[in-house]
Amino acid sequence: MPTPPIAGRDDWYRVQRLSDGVTLIFEHHIVPFYRCNIWHVRGRDRDLLVDSGMGVVSLVGAVPWLAERPLVALASHTHFDHIGNHHEFAERACHRLEAPILADPAPAATLAERYAVIEMFDALPPGGYRQADYRVEAAPATRVLEDGDVIDLGDRVFEVVHVPGHSPGSIALWEAATSTLFSGDAVYDGPLIDDAYHSNRDDYVVSMQRLRRLPVRVVHGGHFPSFGRERYLQLIDDYLAGKRSPGCPPVTSA
Ligand SMILES: [Zn+2]
Ligand SMILES: [Zn+2]
Repeated sequence: MPTPPIAGRDDWYRVQRLSDGVTLIFEHHIVPFYRCNIWHVRGRDRDLLVDSGMGVVSLVGAVPWLAERPLVALASHTHFDHIGNHHEFAERACHRLEAPILADPAPAATLAERYAVIEMFDALPPGGYRQADYRVEAAPATRVLEDGDVIDLGDRVFEVVHVPGHSPGSIALWEAATSTLFSGDAVYDGPLIDDAYHSNRDDYVVSMQRLRRLPVRVVHGGHFPSFGRERYLQLIDDYLAGKRSPGCPPVTSA
């Protein structure tokens, strides 16, 4: 495969405002399977960021308004594609079971060793890219979350739903007032990963059964486009029936 071209410094992130004060930020030169959705929710007292991308280009440098208001940077879980810019934010939250990885994001622990391959780009970050040199900076959690904890933005309230399976400390965020779920990598409209080193399929099944009971209307996942209730139930039922797509695209070894 020829080396991809180099992207311009101002051309790494795309920002897309949705309704409900929710903004999607994404790294558009990363091909869809690997591309993490970075979600920003505007709150009255402070804002919420769900995941932060892989960290090859400064997120705050490219999207400076993220630093203008108090903000909690939450990690749906600690795979490299979701936590690469957490170190740019003073307030950082993740589930207790992911906190050791956020504090010490070694390539094997974050799946960078397996997935942070050059094939993930259609254009390389401005500094170029070598998988062997790629590092996630440590960003120890300033708040450690448990199931049922609440993220309060003043006028919007999100409940932490612990959904182990993809990883031990995967969490979703449930906003009952709008029936909106930020689902991380537990449910999205693409091939779900339940075979990582710390995945657990039995836990995943229980998490899916629990998620199925939520009266969800809108789902913003960790990857791929958002979707509504019908697709949500179908994706869960397909997983529970063992009909999920067979894993990820072929990955070359590091
Ligand atoms: Zn993941
Ligand atoms: Zn992911």
